[in-house]
Amino acid sequence: MTEVVILNASYEPIGGVSVRHAIGMLVRQVAVVEEAVAGQMFGPYPRPKVVRLIRYVAAKWLYRPAGWSKRSVLKRDRHQCAYCRGRATTVDHVVAQSRGGSSTWLNTVASCSPCNNRKGDKAARDVGLRLQWEPWVPRHVDLVA
Ligand SMILES: [Zn+2]
Repeated sequence: MTEVVILNASYEPIGGVSVRHAIGMLVRQVAVVEEAVAGQMFGPYPRPKVVRLIRYVAAKWLYRPAGWSKRSVLKRDRHQCAYCRGRATTVDHVVAQSRGGSSTWLNTVASCSPCNNRKGDKAARDVGLRLQWEPWVPRHVDLVA
């Protein structure tokens, strides 16, 4: 459960954790509360929404390309359909898998069900759909809150 956003000491979001985990960080004094849920306490602490690390963490892995997954494609495209900009719940293969298209960042986009169904295994332009942006390879840092 990621309920609390973690910021690096530089205020850059680097991930999310559960409230319990975040409280643990406050107790160990490795993080401070940046934003809290008004009026809710967790023991002596305000219930955090955003915490910030006290010491900067050099997280090189954050700047490496992220591994592909359907969930990550939806995240990269902010749950927006690459064809109509509606709410996306599925992942579409630009070149259909049945035509040899691979499950890679550059061949997949977030899509709503209607667009995905309409496209099927055809090319987007054959069914009057157009990509609103080119698929790209995100880094881990692009996929955190
Ligand atoms: Zn759509």
